Amino acid sequence: MQTKVFILYTGGTIGMGPKDIHDPFSPLEPKSLEQLLTFVPGFGKKKDISSYRSPEARKLAKGKIPFVELDNGNIILFGSGAFEKPVDSSDVGPKDWKKMANIIADVYDDYDGFVILHGTDTMAFTSSALSFMFENLNKPVVITGSQLPISGMRTDAVLNFVNAIYIAGHEATDLPLIPEVIIAFADKIIRGCRASKVSTSDWAGFDSPNFPLLGTIGEHIKINTNYVRESSKSKFFVKTDFEDNVFIVGLFPGFTNEQIKKLFEDGSIRGYILRTYGTGNVPSNTAFLNTIEKAIKEHKMIVNLSQCSVGTVEMGLYEASSGLMERGVLSGLDLTPEAAITKMMWILGTQYGKGKEYAQMQINQRGEQTENLFDLRFGEVKKERPVSTFTAETTPDGRLNRQKISDSMLRISNLGVKDIEIGKHVKVRVFMNMPSADFKTPDEEKRHIATIDFVWTGKPETRMKKITYNTQNVIGEGDIILTLVCESKKVRIYFSGLFIALYAKA
Ligand code: ASP
Repeated sequence: MQTKVFILYTGGTIGMGPKDIHDPFSPLEPKSLEQLLTFVPGFGKKKDISSYRSPEARKLAKGKIPFVELDNGNIILFGSGAFEKPVDSSDVGPKDWKKMANIIADVYDDYDGFVILHGTDTMAFTSSALSFMFENLNKPVVITGSQLPISGMRTDAVLNFVNAIYIAGHEATDLPLIPEVIIAFADKIIRGCRASKVSTSDWAGFDSPNFPLLGTIGEHIKINTNYVRESSKSKFFVKTDFEDNVFIVGLFPGFTNEQIKKLFEDGSIRGYILRTYGTGNVPSNTAFLNTIEKAIKEHKMIVNLSQCSVGTVEMGLYEASSGLMERGVLSGLDLTPEAAITKMMWILGTQYGKGKEYAQMQINQRGEQTENLFDLRFGEVKKERPVSTFTAETTPDGRLNRQKISDSMLRISNLGVKDIEIGKHVKVRVFMNMPSADFKTPDEEKRHIATIDFVWTGKPETRMKKITYNTQNVIGEGDIILTLVCESKKVRIYFSGLFIALYAKA
């Protein structure tokens, strides 16, 4: 049996060898793919044709196509491409991602799997970017590199390279298909948009902080097929537009609004990843929150991403993150920083539909996050026209799978009460899919999903409530209707926004 693997060499440590092959200490320079293959035992062409076991291999040995005859008798044929000038991955950016994607797209139909040799420094950005660019992938794209050059006596390059070829040539090596962009490095097989570089020098330089490994590499290569994404039946194509005008802002205790303001006022930048503390918290500094609010009003996308590498952002869990949620900051959930920034660049570059990009950013595209977040909006009530009952409906994004709802949060922004004394108790009941609810509807009604209970301070405040349990029971199939009911006609409320944030398993 024969399978075909295409190797794309872009640069990085893996492909380095001494300039003078007789002097291992001469400066390192990028080597050609043919030279690289000579460092891999068994991969160079054998001089003695009769040492190939199968007649097929003996025939191939007379031709020009590089190939390897595996221990199981199967054959992998190689095709290859390379960047004209191999680069250190610190120099790789959106232009190079496009170049890689287009090279693969050009030969996609002719090969069964792909290996990309890449520097380790920005490999996880490339693997994330390619994951987003490839639509309907149904073949493996395996990215690897190494901590030490392939020419060295002690090197991880040979093993990483051969393992990547084994995974890409899955039909010949009898491994399950992984129709995804992945990083295979040392003993780990990681989904490309879940990977992060975690060590400058350990053999195991990469990890998958928020998702199980797709496989492990040891004496045997084991694939965790239950975590591997399904192969697409639709036609493969690439979407290569990226918005380069994005930025990552990292907070630190002691930062001032003056420092940060300048960054958010830059008119050319369209999106920011805001690296926050813990579950997505920021200081309650009003000037800073105003800066964020102003940027959002100027249609900039701001995504809250934790500085912790493990875990997820949970905006609204603490007061310290409610302010961001309130102002329209999106959640980066459990994305890696590499996936977050490349997803933002890709979404801002490719989603031309007005407003759609905000929803897309919180929805899983390629398995890069564990949950989807849908922000349902139900409008506002102006202070001049307060109401004692309110009903509105909204149509959720078609990708919301209602059976998979894991959490939901109700939020009423700047909820105020008209013409009542300060210190008075106010109770607003919320009903889902029951537009007929009124003052007399009993609390026990199952569509009664929350009660907002508070003491009026004279100042409108944002109120939030977890409503998971009830939502699942009453959400139904169609549009979602919310009804707010005050205690009596005499109590009249107003608010600047009514929202439900629905989390559903991706
Ligand atoms: N600086 C190199 C690169 O990323 C490091 C490596 O490949 O390990 O290209």
